[in-house]
Amino acid sequence: MKFSYYMPTRIVSGKNCVKENAGLISPLGKKAFIMSGKSSAKKIGALADMTAALESQGIAWEYYNKVKPNPSLEDVREAAGAAVRAEADFVVAIGGGSPMDAAKAVAVLAADEVSDDELLGQRFFSKVLPLVAVPTTAGTGSEVTPYSILTNNKLQTKSFLNSEQVYPAVAFLDGKYTEDLPFPITAATVIDALSHSAEGYLAVRAIPPAQALALESLTIIGSILPKMASGETPCSEDREALLYASTLAGIVISQSGTTAVHAMGYSLTYFKGLDHGVANGYLLGEYFKYIAASRPLEVKKILSAMGFESIDALSRLIDSLLDHFELTKEEADKFASIAIKAGNIANTDPCPSEEELQNILCNSLVK
Ligand code: NAP
Ligand code: ZN
Repeated sequence: MKFSYYMPTRIVSGKNCVKENAGLISPLGKKAFIMSGKSSAKKIGALADMTAALESQGIAWEYYNKVKPNPSLEDVREAAGAAVRAEADFVVAIGGGSPMDAAKAVAVLAADEVSDDELLGQRFFSKVLPLVAVPTTAGTGSEVTPYSILTNNKLQTKSFLNSEQVYPAVAFLDGKYTEDLPFPITAATVIDALSHSAEGYLAVRAIPPAQALALESLTIIGSILPKMASGETPCSEDREALLYASTLAGIVISQSGTTAVHAMGYSLTYFKGLDHGVANGYLLGEYFKYIAASRPLEVKKILSAMGFESIDALSRLIDSLLDHFELTKEEADKFASIAIKAGNIANTDPCPSEEELQNILCNSLVK
């Protein structure tokens, strides 16, 4: 069995884990640059927990709450300027994938002079600031991945920073931060995690230990999704389980990467403003059908782990969590022509042609 597995993030999970493990932060430096979105980090108490933890270690901090959803290259440069002015030794991200991804780019840009091409093209940088991640959505798994996904206005899509140096040093998982997550964001982010585990399981770069984690994460998600589809808001235990499942799914893609669903989803976010997880959700059913045509047993394994009899049964359930949405044929063709150029297409097995991507997009969204 041939594979290589590397995931250097220390994961600490459990209620009040930030305050109870503050000592893990102290080796990272004397000044923290805390990054979050506009308001949720403060409202849910995660910011107060983190600042108390930092102060207990004698660490000074500065707070930056201007990270927007789907941060762009321009946004992260502005934030990096603030981190440099703050003379930060390390970066703390509190939030969903947007603040965590923005913090990874800032960790690179605040440490050295790096051009956009280098940021997106290089795997190794001369210096990167250490990073702490506190996820407050249960979806992206960015707390355990080497990726930062940034809106690239020049290319009109999302581009990747991919470097082992941006793995967070520590990820704190406390399900209580996700308790008041509004239902639509909960649904979108769970679907994103589902997508990570399923795509990672089926990817060209899939490896056995990551596939084992994928099935575990799909089992958890499969036990909670039907309750959500019947309108139930997840209870505290389910919130904790979803956060665990999304972190597992993040570990999966940290090894395997994502595939065609993510490649096509980026256009739905860039051009149509859909949330990242929602974009994936519209495409998953047709993606499974495309893969199952040549790899039926592997798709069946995913469905069985989730407790579903068929692709259609899973698609119906995902659809029930999403609003109605349509594309024109012209839009579907345009998005296929953009997706075919994405790096994660070559990670899809079998590797789709542009026409096959058009079919997936059309069958999913053109009525
Ligand atoms: P997000 O864009 O980080 O946040 C979406 C919204 O949720 C924001 O309005 C945010 O408000 C709010 N929010 C976050 N936590 C909350 C909480 N606990 N309670 C109430 N509201 C809360 O959403 P996301 O889906 O987690 O992240 C999406 C981004 O991650 C995309 O850019 C996507 O491309 C990227 N992504 C990255 C990876 C990776 O491996 N790096 C993988 C998948 C996706 P505030 O702004 O006020 O905080
Ligand atoms: Zn994703």
